[in-house]
Amino acid sequence: MTSFSDLNLNPKVLKAVVEAGYETPTPIQAGAIPPALEGRDVLGIAQTGTGKTASFTLPMITQLARGRARARMPRSLVLCPTRELAAQVAENFDTYAKHVKLTKALLIGGVSFKEQDVLIDKGVDVLIATPGRLLDHFERGKLILNDVKIMVVDEADRMLDMGFIPDIERIFGLVPFTRQTLFFSATMAPEIERITNTFLSNPARIEVARQATASETIEQRLLQFKPTRRDTSAAEKREMLRAAITAEGERCTNAIIFCNRKVDVDIVAKSLQKHGFNAEPIHGDLDQSHRTRTLDSFREGKLRLLVASDVAARGLDIPSVSHVFNYDLPSHAEDYVHRIGRTGRAGRSGVAISIAVPADEKYLTAIENLIAKEIPRAEAPWSPGARPEGEERPAPRESSSSRTRRSRGGRGRPEEGDRKAPEEAAAAPRAEPEREREAPRTRDRDTDRRPPRDRDGDRRGRGRDGDRIVGMGDHLPDFIALSFEERRGGPAASEAETPEVEDEAPETVAAVETVEAPVAEDAAKPKPKRRKRVTKKAEEATPEDAAG
Ligand code: AMP
Repeated sequence: MTSFSDLNLNPKVLKAVVEAGYETPTPIQAGAIPPALEGRDVLGIAQTGTGKTASFTLPMITQLARGRARARMPRSLVLCPTRELAAQVAENFDTYAKHVKLTKALLIGGVSFKEQDVLIDKGVDVLIATPGRLLDHFERGKLILNDVKIMVVDEADRMLDMGFIPDIERIFGLVPFTRQTLFFSATMAPEIERITNTFLSNPARIEVARQATASETIEQRLLQFKPTRRDTSAAEKREMLRAAITAEGERCTNAIIFCNRKVDVDIVAKSLQKHGFNAEPIHGDLDQSHRTRTLDSFREGKLRLLVASDVAARGLDIPSVSHVFNYDLPSHAEDYVHRIGRTGRAGRSGVAISIAVPADEKYLTAIENLIAKEIPRAEAPWSPGARPEGEERPAPRESSSSRTRRSRGGRGRPEEGDRKAPEEAAAAPRAEPEREREAPRTRDRDTDRRPPRDRDGDRRGRGRDGDRIVGMGDHLPDFIALSFEERRGGPAASEAETPEVEDEAPETVAAVETVEAPVAEDAAKPKPKRRKRVTKKAEEATPEDAAG
């Protein structure tokens, strides 16, 4: 078995690795570090949790330990899809570069340009950025990318989902042709394949098994139920969620609850709070300091339930999460794997409970095909027909128009859900849920994503999901959803509010198989002349380009 000392890392980096408590490199590290140190391009097909961050930070620090940065000219660049991931990568640099003198700057939205400018002006060895913020700095003339020797693209498939690919292509065109590229993606969608063929030169390809096959420590359960009425289905789902959490009792020390849409993240979090649960939402419309506070208190065990969107929770490294609840089944099967992978990390046990209604059938089939097994059906802790005495009757589903009216009608500032109501209504028939990543109208706070240039109506911001179709056949006119009944207040679900955090066990990484396969036919191929073509493409890019 390879050990870290076999990898030719700078001794100061090795020292930091030992201090971090790592004994052996994970497969992605053993596969990616040697070619990266040789200066080769690397294509790492690995998801978060496999140790991939160290697989690029360790060789980068080793290489950057020699030489110094000049003012406004960073020597390396790491692009991440979200602010949280960028911050996590920056923390990794702090950990592994603590014995090496390296300067770094984190360019993410929500932080003043001025502070970031000061750092860039001094000269940084490592620039960690979300694509939108990086381009903002570049366009303000504050940043020169001509000295970038190593460029990392992290979580490329998530960049694709978010419609970031035009920005990435543009950035590739701004850095020197002779740079080294380290490129990571959990999956190889055709569009990702195209990008790697265009911008990587004879990469060492390292693939580690998808987490789908390695999540044996996670107990999966499916709670299926049929809502009594269409207009009460959301309230019934929330009730099912509460019952599921309550049924887990103290075993559920903390949990991430996933919703497909930002509006539901807010609604579910508020509803849980109302019923006495210790819950907070996290998604891209919350400001950065709020998100950081929420995450910190979840990490510290002060917050028990984190209600999240896929984008906000993507790649977060929170070691002990006892439960994951899927309030919605994800419409992309691989998101199911990412979501449940938030629990059962590093050999710990974990429980993943998913709620499914009949409309989820096609998502369920796709998930079960991907994980190659049936999710065990569990007895639902609650059923709409057998409501326990005194339990809240599901409130009729609020139509967009009723919410809009209410928010206009004197409640002052509309709340999150109100502002998003028309979108929610449009998505309600559930042709394809309007996911967080599909509708960034203004810059997305998760991602600092810039709105596509030639956006028009429905064409905006699509990732690989393709079209969202809302057919009249499925559409529920708002007036039908209005109810004449008064909502009866339900008793708060009682539950222990003091979360206990599991004992910290040393973290190990469950990646399975390493294959290193240099792409032979590319070896003789000269690098394409890309800069001119790419710049033009970026200028012409539409969201459809990103969708591929
Ligand atoms: P990542 O996939 O980069 O998000 O890493 C997931 C977790 O694995 C992080 O908490 C790292 O600190 C940890 N980790 C990375 N490399 C190793 C290693 N070689 N041995 C044990 N843990 C590691």
